[in-house]
Amino acid sequence: ATFTKTFDTPTYKGTITIPLGLYINGQHVDPVEGGSIEVVNPSTGKVITSIAAGTKADIDIAATAAEKAYKTSWGLRVSGTERGKLLFKLADLMEQRIDQFAALDALANGKAYKTAYGRDNTGGIAVLRYYAGWADKISGKTIETNDKKLSYTRHEPIGVVGQIIPWNVPMFSLTLKIAPALATGNTIVLKPSELTPLSALLFTTLIEEAGFPPGVINIVNGYGPTAGQAISEHPIIRKVTFTGSTLTGRKIMEAAAKSNLKPVTLELGGKSPTVIFDDVDLEQAVKWAIHGIYFNHGQNCSAGSRIFVQEGIYDAFLKQFTEQALAIKVGDPFQEETYQGPQVSQTQFDRIMGYIEAGKVDGAKVHLGGNRIGNEGYFIQPTIFTECQPHMKIVREEIFGPVACILKFKTEEEVIEQANDTTYGLAASVFTKDIDKGFRVAHAIEAGNMWINCSNQAEIQMPFGGYKQSGIGRELGEYALENYTHVKAVHVNL
Ligand code: NAD
Repeated sequence: ATFTKTFDTPTYKGTITIPLGLYINGQHVDPVEGGSIEVVNPSTGKVITSIAAGTKADIDIAATAAEKAYKTSWGLRVSGTERGKLLFKLADLMEQRIDQFAALDALANGKAYKTAYGRDNTGGIAVLRYYAGWADKISGKTIETNDKKLSYTRHEPIGVVGQIIPWNVPMFSLTLKIAPALATGNTIVLKPSELTPLSALLFTTLIEEAGFPPGVINIVNGYGPTAGQAISEHPIIRKVTFTGSTLTGRKIMEAAAKSNLKPVTLELGGKSPTVIFDDVDLEQAVKWAIHGIYFNHGQNCSAGSRIFVQEGIYDAFLKQFTEQALAIKVGDPFQEETYQGPQVSQTQFDRIMGYIEAGKVDGAKVHLGGNRIGNEGYFIQPTIFTECQPHMKIVREEIFGPVACILKFKTEEEVIEQANDTTYGLAASVFTKDIDKGFRVAHAIEAGNMWINCSNQAEIQMPFGGYKQSGIGRELGEYALENYTHVKAVHVNL
């Protein structure tokens, strides 16, 4: 079965057809148990289409196909140069259809088309090319030892890897998972988010054309507790990489431990601090703080959701920040000027509105926004809370929506302590013209990603990951290659 949709919007005009089945062993197939997922348009709340949903039985078939492909037509049987060539081809094919990928993500996720086109899909294509370049550069070391042996290391693929991704940056998540795994010679069973599976389905149509043998990349849609859980506990799958909430990360680690003790790489949630000192370039600091929290509707794991402002600049900052938050264009993702579309789902909408209520009950002040926009879809006003206290729910928990908490501070010492007063440690930013202070604070905050005088940046060449309960391991850059390789030590008696 296929789904066809014609778009006639200011940003995208055209017709897209995608297959709806599970992509296993190079074929689109129906699920064994016949399950389905209704994909909803968050701009309207209406169903776009129904797609196939896999369960444990389908994951089993996919894992078996991936294992066969690993043993017969991938892994170290295929040279790094050849693996890289196929990844470059995949990138070229994705680029030819980038507008279609962007349209499907804007439709199912609700994100602005231009964000989907730029950061997500242009970024995703660049990720494919970055790791295509690595495929023939995986190498070990020759190591001097204490006797006369020749000793060296090899970086070998792990085998079949399972990958589970979220909905907030669908194609960027997909590419940053598959590209390093393929470059290093692994085969894949990947499950997209049940909320945004359409672009991944379009992607399945490129895999064979790029030249990948059947079974190397399997993309199985399904729900988390069924298909996702089955990936985490499958005995053939030797590794799981996951991006999503800390709660789900914990379940995946448990299932991985209880089954075959497979290692996990986890990219989880955050409650990232933005620290603004008195001595900043105010205009720049406001611009980046806005980007930090409101980009992608606040649905960023690294969103700067706790904004600490030093007392001398507090009033001036709040005034400008409020003006800019008020100016954010919220609306149809396909309009040219839209910056913020709807939140992704009814569940997320309810969750965010629940946090806004909790903030009021706890005694914080809604300085701006706080309400739904319109009667259909999941649109929420860019919201600012002031008079926030460290113990409040809105300051402690990840909201994953367009809600900023502003807190006032006096000293560097005090703000470092408050910034670190969280179970998370994904990212943080600091704004100051005093570069010594910038480095000092950047080094003192416990977070995997630190931005000085900017925010919310993920560079392909740089590692990305969290401290504390924001995750385990690193993705992107050279570091991601470690997630998909074993190091073998070879000792040769000369
Ligand atoms: P989620 O944890 O609900 O779902 C993520 C994925 O996990 C989905 O594919 C889902 O189907 C699957 N899943 C759900 N339950 C499962 C289970 N029991 N076993 C296996 N898989 C299961 O998260 P979400 O709501 O899709 O995404 C939002 C979260 O992701 C936020 O907390 C955000 O911070 C985090 N995130 C982190 C990063 C990062 O790099 N650190 C990036 C993006 C998003």
